[in-house]
Amino acid sequence: PLPIVAIVGRPNVGKSTLVNRLSESKDSIVHDQPGITRDRTYRHAYWQDREFSVVDTGGLIFDDDTEFLPLIREQVMVALAEATVAIFVVDGQTGVTGGDEAIASWLREHSVPVLLAVNKCESPTAGLIQAAQFWELGLGNPFPISGIHGSGTGELLDELIQYL
Ligand code: GDP
Ligand code: MG
Repeated sequence: PLPIVAIVGRPNVGKSTLVNRLSESKDSIVHDQPGITRDRTYRHAYWQDREFSVVDTGGLIFDDDTEFLPLIREQVMVALAEATVAIFVVDGQTGVTGGDEAIASWLREHSVPVLLAVNKCESPTAGLIQAAQFWELGLGNPFPISGIHGSGTGELLDELIQYL
């Protein structure tokens, strides 16, 4: 079986877009509506000579009380339990939110290695500043990326395959 990379983060930060980018597949559900991807979906991906499976998760919501919340959390738990490494996606345009901090403290208690992807960083120069804000999450180096444009994903993947 292929190693599993779990993509976690708040709704609407760009998880599904990143999964599509990493797998170059356009059939994953991507909508503007927050949290639309309720189920885990798997995509085959590779980088250099490494193959892996990317699992999209429903949004991790810690400061909301929707009826789906327990189900979403359970899906994320399952995805993380089987994951070799997780990519925690945050929104570089909104900056650090309370939800990000809650997820970060929860991830720090898990043993799975976490890479921090600061999405929506289309501008290389602004992206560095946007990404630097996320050092405070205590999850190491924040990688500025754009799931839409693909910028920065090479550096993220170079780091990712060290864990596979
Ligand atoms: P998810 O809820 O975390 O799966 O997020 P989606 O992938 O569905 O994206 C949520 C919204 O963010 C959509 O409107 C996307 O077009 C937008 N988005 C995703 N990735 C990027 C990006 O790299 N840059 C910008 N500017 N917007 C993005
Ligand atoms: Mg999604």
